[in-house]
Amino acid sequence: MSSIFKRLELSGFKSFAKAARFDFESPIVAIVGPNGSGKSNVVEAIRWVLGEQSFKSLRGHRGEDLIFNGSTSSPRLGKASVSAIFDNTSKHFPVDFREVAIGRRVYRDGKGEYLVNDSEVRLKDVIELLAHVGLGISQHPIISQGEADRILYVSPKDRQSMIEESLGLKVYQYKREEAEKKLQQTEDNMRKAQALRAEVRPHLDHLKRLVEKYERATEIRAALASKASEYLSRWRTTLERDRAAADGGEKEAELKAINKKLEKFGTPSSAESDDTQALLALEAELKKLREKRVECERELGRAEGALESMASGGNRDDDAIPREEVEELLMRAEDDLSGALESDSIPEIHEIVQIVTDRLGAFLMQRTAEEKMRGDTKAYALRAVEWKRALADIAKKETALSDEWERRWSRAQEMEAERRNARQEIAALEARSRECEDAIRRAAFAEEVLKNREAEWERCRQDIVHWAGSEVALAASAAPFIDEEREAAQKAIDRLKFRLEEAGGVDTAVLREYDDAKTRDRFFEKELTDLVSSAKQLRGVSKELAEKIESDFSRGLGKITSEFDRFFQLMFGGGRAALTVLRERSPLASEDEDAPRPEGGVHIDVALPRKKIRGLEMLSGGERSLTAVALLFALSAVSPPPFLVLDETDAALDEANSVRYGDMLKELSRSTQIITITHNRQTMRRAGVLYGVTAGSDGISRLLSLKLAQAEEMAES
Ligand code: ATP
Repeated sequence: MSSIFKRLELSGFKSFAKAARFDFESPIVAIVGPNGSGKSNVVEAIRWVLGEQSFKSLRGHRGEDLIFNGSTSSPRLGKASVSAIFDNTSKHFPVDFREVAIGRRVYRDGKGEYLVNDSEVRLKDVIELLAHVGLGISQHPIISQGEADRILYVSPKDRQSMIEESLGLKVYQYKREEAEKKLQQTEDNMRKAQALRAEVRPHLDHLKRLVEKYERATEIRAALASKASEYLSRWRTTLERDRAAADGGEKEAELKAINKKLEKFGTPSSAESDDTQALLALEAELKKLREKRVECERELGRAEGALESMASGGNRDDDAIPREEVEELLMRAEDDLSGALESDSIPEIHEIVQIVTDRLGAFLMQRTAEEKMRGDTKAYALRAVEWKRALADIAKKETALSDEWERRWSRAQEMEAERRNARQEIAALEARSRECEDAIRRAAFAEEVLKNREAEWERCRQDIVHWAGSEVALAASAAPFIDEEREAAQKAIDRLKFRLEEAGGVDTAVLREYDDAKTRDRFFEKELTDLVSSAKQLRGVSKELAEKIESDFSRGLGKITSEFDRFFQLMFGGGRAALTVLRERSPLASEDEDAPRPEGGVHIDVALPRKKIRGLEMLSGGERSLTAVALLFALSAVSPPPFLVLDETDAALDEANSVRYGDMLKELSRSTQIITITHNRQTMRRAGVLYGVTAGSDGISRLLSLKLAQAEEMAES
């Protein structure tokens, strides 16, 4: 097979002060040389360049220890560098180069660097790259001096781990650990999310209750608004109807008209009293005329009597005044005067006195005239004619006055009738006016009541707006309330208000808070669902990997066991070797707790030929070494590493065993490239290339390409 590890270049590394190059083109390359010449330094250079982090396995304490430290003849160097060049024609490394050169440098200041094909990279990149050819960080194919039998004395558990690594199961284990780690994290996060949800749940429930309360209140409020809309609309219609009915304007107009009419009647005219006065005056005048007429008639009578008497006997000889006339005159005077005495009116008294005086004067004048005329019939006749004329005059005046009186009287009667009519009309108008006033008063009262009701309506509207939290839409046309309807509706609204009050007020900020809390809770819920499904998936992955590791391991271990047995028998010319796996004790195991139980992991069971020896503890040093090598070769045979570096793993073998060892090495080299440091001639014989390492008095390692004979010679020296 072609070698993957093509060469190693060192410069300034430990004893290799000068640049040295090892070509590993042959399946087995042996490095020989005297003790202390620097052979193990080559193994360490390989370890180091492949990313070794432990200074202990490099036999140093710090980076500086790896740099050539100078000698008596050579100064110390500032830098150590190593390059491992791998073949990549088969594209084992996922890079587009035929060769992959992994380099590492360290400087005196401790600073180091990694290179891949001369480009600086991180350690991580180197590790990842090497993982592609099955070289893990534990570098199990590099067996340092004295390390070969390490696999024998490590714990069964560590041994199991070494076997797992050689079987290439580490990558799955690593993946499984990753999955478990992630599962752990996921479960932690699940618990956190659950705790968070549980923590906010009471608050969320509380908010939910508040929101439900708010929603209930909103529903009631909406019902209230709708009910109130109908209620206020119908009430308004009722009020409008009542207002229309209570309109006092008509009555006021009527009253105004009545007043206008009444005004027209005005104050009662003085015509009535004027007429009365006139009638009284006429009556008084007529009375005077009658008296005058009576007087004239009497005078006429007297004159005619005188004439008669004169005609019948001459004149009356007594010129005495007839007694009855005087008495009558005096009686009348007395009457009149007594009337004057009773009167309070000076003009009346004056008038009466005047009348009496006039009458007396007239009487006396009459007497005097009579006296004068007594003797003269002619005079009487003349007088009689005068009296008749006077009477006629009086009669004429009386007729005129009577007519006047009649006329005035009838006019007074007419006017009285008119006035009566007017009075009746006024009374009727006044009655109507009172009715109107009453109606207006009633209307005003009704208006007052209506205003109060309207104010009450407005208060009610505002109250409802306050309760409903919004304007109340009013219907344009709504039926007015009939009878008890309004009270019933009012009660319904009051009930809604009561329910609203019961529902209580909820701050709207709560809605937002609830939404936020719900969103958060949903987020956690979703998170939890995601976590549960990813946990499930991770468990699945982990289980699958565990199963794969388990099955690959048991299959691999079976093969290793049979190879181990074969190599063991080859080494010892018989005997038996086996690997057995003991499971870790399960904490739930029902086995006898006190029974001693070997540690879980891989146990080695060997039986040497012809000897009654079982178990590793009983083996000699050489036997242990052979057993270790057999196991090492078994591991390499089942799961061939890209190369195997063996530092004096053959040191403890006697000649016969060295031959067997060499044969096995040869066999192994068919599947794995081998670089071995050896003093063993048998091993040297199997090597295709031999390098000799020497160190002169200057302490600097030098490299020589050797022929076998030279090598054997060097080995013996
Ligand atoms: P053996 O056959 O006995 O195992 P070897 O050939 O394997 O010997 P190494 O152990 O590789 O020899 O070499 C050790 C030598 O390297 C020692 O002499 C040591 O002084 C030298 N050495 C180690 N580190 C440095 C360093 N930093 N500078 C110079 N020389 C060093």
